[in-house]
Amino acid sequence: MIPYGKHTITQDDINAVTETLQNQFLTQGKAVPQFEQALCEYTGAQFAVAVNSGTSALHLACLSLDINNDDIVWTVPNTFAASANCARYCGAEVDFVDIDVETRLISIDKLHSKLKDAKKQNTLPKALIVVHFAGHMCDMESLSSLAAEFGFAIIEDAAHAFGSSYKGKYKAGKPQHSSITILSFHPVKSITTAEGGALLTDSTEIAEKAKLYSSHGITKNANSFRCEKPSIAHYEQHTLGFNYRLSDLHAALGISQINRLDQLIAQRRKLAERYYKKLVDLPVKLPINDANSAWHLFVIELLEHDRDQIFQTLLDNGIAANVHYIPVHWHPYYQQLGFKKGQFENSENYYRRAISLPLFPELTLNEQDHVTAVLREALT
Ligand SMILES: *Cc1c(COP(=O)(O)O)cnc(C)c1O
Repeated sequence: MIPYGKHTITQDDINAVTETLQNQFLTQGKAVPQFEQALCEYTGAQFAVAVNSGTSALHLACLSLDINNDDIVWTVPNTFAASANCARYCGAEVDFVDIDVETRLISIDKLHSKLKDAKKQNTLPKALIVVHFAGHMCDMESLSSLAAEFGFAIIEDAAHAFGSSYKGKYKAGKPQHSSITILSFHPVKSITTAEGGALLTDSTEIAEKAKLYSSHGITKNANSFRCEKPSIAHYEQHTLGFNYRLSDLHAALGISQINRLDQLIAQRRKLAERYYKKLVDLPVKLPINDANSAWHLFVIELLEHDRDQIFQTLLDNGIAANVHYIPVHWHPYYQQLGFKKGQFENSENYYRRAISLPLFPELTLNEQDHVTAVLREALT
């Protein structure tokens, strides 16, 4: 089976992890701060907090912005459920803004009109979680001006976008127009730590809060102790935190992988370019060709054919494509909260037609040719 996404592991990666196994520390050693440093250097963000998943990073992002059960958080339906769940963890109400049919990213027009309505009804969100779907970055300049006008914080879910650039101006991860950016290092993403993620911010306050929440809410920093006469080896719990730490083994893999990030993205871009050439005359809608994308996904929309039928044909020919995403508000959990099918039409119509074709750095040209040949046969 050709999968839709897959990690790459080199001998250097294996050496990095096995060397770490011989260190004194398997967790809370040197590898995590080194990985955080590498994330800052690559993205230009001032602070990075490496954690055990992208989902944990999203939860920490909400916690660091003090999101609670008095608050409303908005995101898009065309994302992985974690982009919405993180607000629910904090007790906040979730609502969605539909996507733009061309970009498949948050619709700025729909956002603007929803904000105007919410302002009248006094239901403005405290935060908006935007998703750089497939590696294509959202219009951050328009988003940040709306954030300033209506007074909400922006969290960038850049799980798909590590290695993308914003119009060639800065790297995804740098929270240039937002409070926080999160990354995921799940094996299908740009680089992997097996499981892992990171929160990136330019705010000292947010970085400190995220760090505290990521490790039980406990601090060992003597400057922040509230105890007047701390004993030796003193530590204090200041808030109700979690254990979201990344281990040194995972971080060592991340350090080794990040060295190859640009190379991995270049391979993805080359394969994406080849898909354009090979699919151009088929009855499918291709993604916007964005030279700045990290190309996490290559999603086509079928214009004439039944999606499930074509998906099955691909499967029958050894191609395990995927579908990104079932609109989040369609999940029974969100339906129980009152969301209805039909509420966010663009995300829903897009979903019904979408197929994510295999795209990962080690996809061979022969495998890609097989994918396009099977598709051509099925569609013509
Ligand atoms: C992968 C992903 C996440 C969650 O990341 P994990 O590391 O798997 O927890 C969140 N949002 C989006 C858009 C993702 O693709």
